[in-house]
Amino acid sequence: MPSVSLPPAYRSQMIDMLGKEEAERLLDTYTDERLYGLRINTLKIAAASSSMNALKEQFELKPVPWCPEGYSYSEDKRPGKHPYHAAGLYYIQEPSAMSAVCLLDPQPGETILDLAAAPGGKSTQIAARMQGQGLLVSNEIHPARAKILSENIERCGIRNALVTNAAPDDLSARFPHAFDRIMLDAPCSGEGMFRKDERAVEEWSPEAVELCAARQRDILHEAVKMLKPGGVMAYSTCTFNRMENEDNMRWLQQEYPFMELVEEKRIWPHLQAGEGHYVALLRRKPGSEAAAVQERDESGRNAGIRSREAKPSRKGKSRGHAKGGSEGLQAKQTCLDWMKENTPGFTAEPERMTAFGEALYLLPQSREWLLSPEMLEGLRIPRAGLRLGVFRKGRFEPDHALALALTAADAAVSVDLKADSPEAYAYLKGETLTVSAELRGWTLVTLDGYPVGFGKCSGGQLKNHYPKGLRLTGGSAV
Ligand code: SAM
Repeated sequence: MPSVSLPPAYRSQMIDMLGKEEAERLLDTYTDERLYGLRINTLKIAAASSSMNALKEQFELKPVPWCPEGYSYSEDKRPGKHPYHAAGLYYIQEPSAMSAVCLLDPQPGETILDLAAAPGGKSTQIAARMQGQGLLVSNEIHPARAKILSENIERCGIRNALVTNAAPDDLSARFPHAFDRIMLDAPCSGEGMFRKDERAVEEWSPEAVELCAARQRDILHEAVKMLKPGGVMAYSTCTFNRMENEDNMRWLQQEYPFMELVEEKRIWPHLQAGEGHYVALLRRKPGSEAAAVQERDESGRNAGIRSREAKPSRKGKSRGHAKGGSEGLQAKQTCLDWMKENTPGFTAEPERMTAFGEALYLLPQSREWLLSPEMLEGLRIPRAGLRLGVFRKGRFEPDHALALALTAADAAVSVDLKADSPEAYAYLKGETLTVSAELRGWTLVTLDGYPVGFGKCSGGQLKNHYPKGLRLTGGSAV
């Protein structure tokens, strides 16, 4: 419930839009309790598993009707503090925000863009639907938010996401007509956020709505350039006014007659159990190749992702500092040897491995597109697929992201802790654990069988490799 009162102009806008009676019902919801939700990460946990059943009971989860992986819970529950959250078994997401990706319907193997992706609710949902196959470009314009996005991609064990930190026009110049599907969850005036965030109420004004709508049109211009003929785009906002929603979709179709509206959906807080969302699904007509050529010419630059047959030739200033030559080869070989010994259930295709500075990544690929370091030159890339680890002073050290992308069966040595045990909390706090004296070397630490990080065993002790920035401080609560 916002402690600041709703702007009178907002009240009038909703009365004009819905009529007095229905608008009152909507406005009354602003004094109700907020709605909370989580979406299970099907990359890691099955809806029918015993751990999931235990979670349902513990947090009194209720299914979200429009999203099979979604559940709601009440304010007094704290699933974000449960160790399963650290293991990436679910993502905290408001129920109505889950609707957009369900409509987009991503498929394994595709090339997909999430253009305004932080903090990552929709990207992690798309990645789960892709089941590790294909290429997800997950982009965020603001550097600090791109970092949070990257951390959430890591926690959810996503192997196939290229996280970029770019403006939409920089991306469209590089990736014209590259994507089978695009998610555009646009920055908006946030009328559906008023219960959660009183800054959204304070910042709202009719002028702010107009500015948001204009910015959304700017971003839509770039999104269309990146959509393949025959491809689909979901456009969503968490705001209610027509200007940022239906009106912008009408504008889009007038501007680009080859974009057809397939479906529009609204979730209203007075009608459904959600804070509110608008989603439109659009298809770019398959015959719009001529327009595609024209847009490419207009973009002035060449494609950043190329088909498997094409030879990348683009040269530019490098921010990725991909390492080649004998040093790069040595890094790759050391990593492959490490994986052979320590993660026999998981290895990396050498042709997809690349070194950026000390870090080794496994680049994602889709059915159609193969990334190479040259293609990423000049882009700010917080995460170039799966970060395998670092090659330093002739040795390979695995990254936390690798632990989270594995299953327990992939590791040669693992230690399983009960998720609600003092040992699990000690591990998440960064403490050294006492383990069987027989255990040696790199060890995957699991909670009830779900990987949560690495440790290194010797002499009956597990040295903690849970990242310092993620460690629990203070007391623990479930
Ligand atoms: N899709 C995200 C999720 O599900 O977690 C939420 C995205 S939020 C509604 C919109 C995002 O757009 C914000 O992260 C914001 O930083 C970003 N943004 C703001 N201005 C932008 C612009 N001009 N172009 C692209 N993205 C922008």
